[in-house]
Amino acid sequence: MSREEMRELQGKRLHKLVSLVYHNTPFYRKKMQEMNILPEDIRTIDDIVKLPFTTKQDLRDNYPYGLLAAPRSEIVRIHASSGTTGVPTVVGYTRRDLSIWQEAIARCMTAYGVTRDDVFSVGYGYGLFTGGLGAHYGVEHLGATVIPTSTGNTQKHIRLIRDLGITGIACTPSYALYLAEAIEKSGIPKKDIHLRIGAFGAEPWTENMRKETEYRLGLNAYNLYGLSEIMGPGVSHECECKNGSHIVEDHFYPEIISPDTLETLPYGQEGELVLTTLTKEGMPLLRYRTKDLCSLIEGKCDCGRTSIRMTPIKGRSDDMLIIRGINVFPSQVESVVLEMEELEPHYMLIVDRVNNTDKLEVQVEVKPEFFSDSLNQMLELKKRIGHRLQSVLTISAEVKLMEPQSLERSEGKSKHVIDKRVLA
Ligand code: ADP
Ligand code: ZN
Repeated sequence: MSREEMRELQGKRLHKLVSLVYHNTPFYRKKMQEMNILPEDIRTIDDIVKLPFTTKQDLRDNYPYGLLAAPRSEIVRIHASSGTTGVPTVVGYTRRDLSIWQEAIARCMTAYGVTRDDVFSVGYGYGLFTGGLGAHYGVEHLGATVIPTSTGNTQKHIRLIRDLGITGIACTPSYALYLAEAIEKSGIPKKDIHLRIGAFGAEPWTENMRKETEYRLGLNAYNLYGLSEIMGPGVSHECECKNGSHIVEDHFYPEIISPDTLETLPYGQEGELVLTTLTKEGMPLLRYRTKDLCSLIEGKCDCGRTSIRMTPIKGRSDDMLIIRGINVFPSQVESVVLEMEELEPHYMLIVDRVNNTDKLEVQVEVKPEFFSDSLNQMLELKKRIGHRLQSVLTISAEVKLMEPQSLERSEGKSKHVIDKRVLA
């Protein structure tokens, strides 16, 4: 499709979407009334800048069904985002939403070169998480043979890869590396592994990880991006050129904004990705702020596709960390630090990736009166903090006790995170 045709289609769909939410979602009607906008004011895709943003907080405030634009009886599936802090966010899909989703995933798979002749393992978790079922139905829709492996049993997974002649796999890039390691350890000869395509996503990854997974698993590794609020995986995908991820933009309209001024930024400039669901019925969202940082690339790709591409996600504009697939907020660590009388309210999270596994170190500062030369006492304290952190974060962290006054103080906004998993 030419750019003009695409923009015309997007404009038409946006107009329809705006009337839908205006009439069916009180939350959006109220927002639009406050801003003095009527559905008639939105004619072309350029009018999108007049519309309000939607944030994760809006989803939480309207939990669970407040943002649905379709009657509950039309909703045939619910998914949820992991929601480690506070209220989880849930999303509802109509039958048509599910059919568009599987079509979007099938497009991604086609761009990776998956065909009906492939045997494809879905190694994302099946359940409330969108990864498993989302990828599953898309692969099935394409006509490849889908193996719903899910997460958890790596030895069994390896066996299936060998025995069933699995050629494609969808999972997180870190799991792909773990799998590579496990296959190497298993002693199964490389000639018995027929993997050729990897669809990796759900967390940020680097060019180096691509090279490593490609080399060790003997496949072509492609990016798969998405988020539950918008749909799940399938919002964008790489092609054989591996030069940015094509956005499925007839369904998801992308914008980049400055997270500070909220102004729309031109193509090529880095900022926060904002997505509008142009065709969703169940829980359509206007200008959803993803918090994901990237930039948009325009111009025809060497693969022939004309859709806008996005660069790899570089980080998030809020302070949420994704560690081993789990959402971790520095504020959770803060709550633990603040509840322990032995600790000063200063802390630092140091995240790194060692042997392809995320590692979290939490540095805490011991109050002078509790700082002791007794190794036993210090070990006991360290253990207690470790347990507490584990129960709040749901992942383990290495606790490092710091001497009084050793952590950096800052005026104004303080820095609590050093993420060494630098993304190239
Ligand atoms: P949450 O993690 O908020 O519970 P999701 O499971 O829907 O919800 O995760 C979506 C988030 O995961 C995205 O907003 C993004 O930060 C991250 N993500 C998903 N796919 C990719 C990818 N291919 N590259 C980088 N980050 C990704
Ligand atoms: Zn391309």
